Amino acid sequence: MAELKDVKGIGPKSLSLLNKIGINTLEDLVTHYPFRYDVLKRDDLSKIEDGEKIIIDGKIESVPILMRFKAGLNKMNFRLVTPSGIVGVSIFNRAFLKSKLLVGTDVIIIGKLDKTKNVITASDIKLDVLSNKVKIEPIYHCTSGITNKNMSTYINMALLMFGKEIQDYIPKKYQEKYNFVNKKTALNIIHNPSTGEKLKEVTIRLKYEELFQFMFKINYLKQQNKKEKNGLYRHIDREQMNQFIKTIPFTLTNDQKIAVEEILNDLESPNRMNRLLQGDVGSGKTVIAFLAMYANALCGYQSALMAPTEILANQHYQNLCEFLKNTDIKVALLTGSTSKKEKNEIYKKLNDGTISIVIGTHALIQDEVAYHNLGLVITDEQHRFGVYQRANLQNKGVKPDVLYMSATPIPRTYALTIFGDMDVSTIKEQPKGRKKITTYVKKNSEIKDVLSMMYEELKKNHQVYVIAPLIEESETSDLTTVNELRDQMKLAFKDKYRIDIVHGKMASGAKDIIMNQFKNNEVQILISTTVVEVGVDVPNATTMVIFDADRFGLSTLHQLRGRVGRGTSQSQCILISDSDTERLKIMEREDDGFVISEEDFKLRGHGDLFGVKQSGDMTFKIASIKNDYKILLQAKKDSKEYLEEEETAADSLKEKLIQSITKVN
Ligand code: ADP
Ligand code: MG
Repeated sequence: MAELKDVKGIGPKSLSLLNKIGINTLEDLVTHYPFRYDVLKRDDLSKIEDGEKIIIDGKIESVPILMRFKAGLNKMNFRLVTPSGIVGVSIFNRAFLKSKLLVGTDVIIIGKLDKTKNVITASDIKLDVLSNKVKIEPIYHCTSGITNKNMSTYINMALLMFGKEIQDYIPKKYQEKYNFVNKKTALNIIHNPSTGEKLKEVTIRLKYEELFQFMFKINYLKQQNKKEKNGLYRHIDREQMNQFIKTIPFTLTNDQKIAVEEILNDLESPNRMNRLLQGDVGSGKTVIAFLAMYANALCGYQSALMAPTEILANQHYQNLCEFLKNTDIKVALLTGSTSKKEKNEIYKKLNDGTISIVIGTHALIQDEVAYHNLGLVITDEQHRFGVYQRANLQNKGVKPDVLYMSATPIPRTYALTIFGDMDVSTIKEQPKGRKKITTYVKKNSEIKDVLSMMYEELKKNHQVYVIAPLIEESETSDLTTVNELRDQMKLAFKDKYRIDIVHGKMASGAKDIIMNQFKNNEVQILISTTVVEVGVDVPNATTMVIFDADRFGLSTLHQLRGRVGRGTSQSQCILISDSDTERLKIMEREDDGFVISEEDFKLRGHGDLFGVKQSGDMTFKIASIKNDYKILLQAKKDSKEYLEEEETAADSLKEKLIQSITKVN
């Protein structure tokens, strides 16, 4: 298979920019779908509004004047006669066309009209005939250094050179059944639609493909699951459980109580537990996981809790140690940065059963880890993991019960459709005494306000998170960097407060030290990349400031915001951005993660920078579970039928679909 760098026009620099926005393969590039289309009118000059983007037909009336600037930039100006008057045209970087732009030539100009100057700033000029009354222009999520035009060029070049190599995941049978065009044609049309109807048609086709692939994956894993043995039978001492629950420093909410009950029942039942525990950020899922692991340990089985980041694993570990301090249950922490020696020690003790509960990251599912009698597996922030990873745990004993926890709520009907036999516990109620977090959208120019809002909180001995999306890694990035932010904060707050940094590239030990200092209020302002996004719990932090907020998906913002408002004080979240304010305003209005995730479902996959990281189950490029539910149901049915057809066992497409399961995650 060809690679991105094989596409003509993509050099090392554009390659790294593309990588930055999550485009790593040829397939990523050609499925980088437009997030919207501009429909350009073709009309009389007189009927066009100031600043409107238009297509206009005309004849060149004056010899183009060419100006060259440094860095290879150039600009041409000429006059254009149109049926409704003369207009000036100026266009950048088309010097190579000069010899063709003779006086009297018919051209079509696409651009924006400045009515007062009577000049069109053209984005494109066409010498061929355009037959349509309107032009549909795809608009892509880009990054600085790659323009919309560049993106379109790369995609079309990739399709031209390698279109045939792009894997089509819809089996022939269904292609024919629904009269779908092939993948290459579909991609060509979605990136260059000539009419609205055609666009609609191929959009459905591409959505179907994506959902087919997804449902095939789910069905396949379910099928694999069924082949496995049934679950454990345990007897849980409810009296002992109740006594233990009384030692927790707060009272469980009703929803928490119900969830615990459901899980304990599952653990006791001889059927294998396969349960999703969903609840908004801050609703208190962790304590439920702890109770489940406690119950499991009482019955003599091991538990593993898997978290998506080391910070979170570490936090769970510390909390769990505190939680179990009056018991003799042995707990261990296993992450990528656990030393080799320690790791081997832990492997040994997991193998012989000395350790009852292990908390960790992906390190838990490495091949070296073999459990003595693993009875329960819990994954926190489930949406961060892929389906395949969860299925990968090794165990000497029977197949363990599984609990998934997620703060990205999925409507129950959808969850049932997708996960089929999975049970769902939902926590709707937040713990008592929580106040709604006030959210503000601010411009970069309002930074002074932001600083004084921070100061107000700091004076009350509260703490502040400041989020920057990237650390200095490419000089081309105009994003505010963590270090710059620190300097800015130091300048503003002098030595009054301690400011520190955590970011993804830091060694984990160093990260933990700073997180702990923040937890103990030895650091008051924590500047960070999104490593704090999930799960981190420091109740004394009351302010969350997010720079370049437009770079994040709404669910990510909601997760980040969920880091504050964890204590009893009023908390606030400040989103700083000069663009995309409409979308961000949703955050001012909404505090229900469910509604936000629905909004995000609609918008996601389109330029959410964290699309790469969130390569969990729910990330779609074009389909939406909510809006394309009918297609989803059909794809579910078809993929199941396809999976179960015996004679296709050696079918190479089936193989490719199965491979794509590992690849996707
Ligand atoms: P999430 O569901 O986002 O994982 P956590 O489990 O981290 O939320 O809980 C958030 C905070 O709320 C923690 O500090 C936790 O100790 C606290 N908490 C959980 N349940 C309750 C409760 N019933 N009453 C009061 N505080 C609670
Ligand atoms: Mg959590």
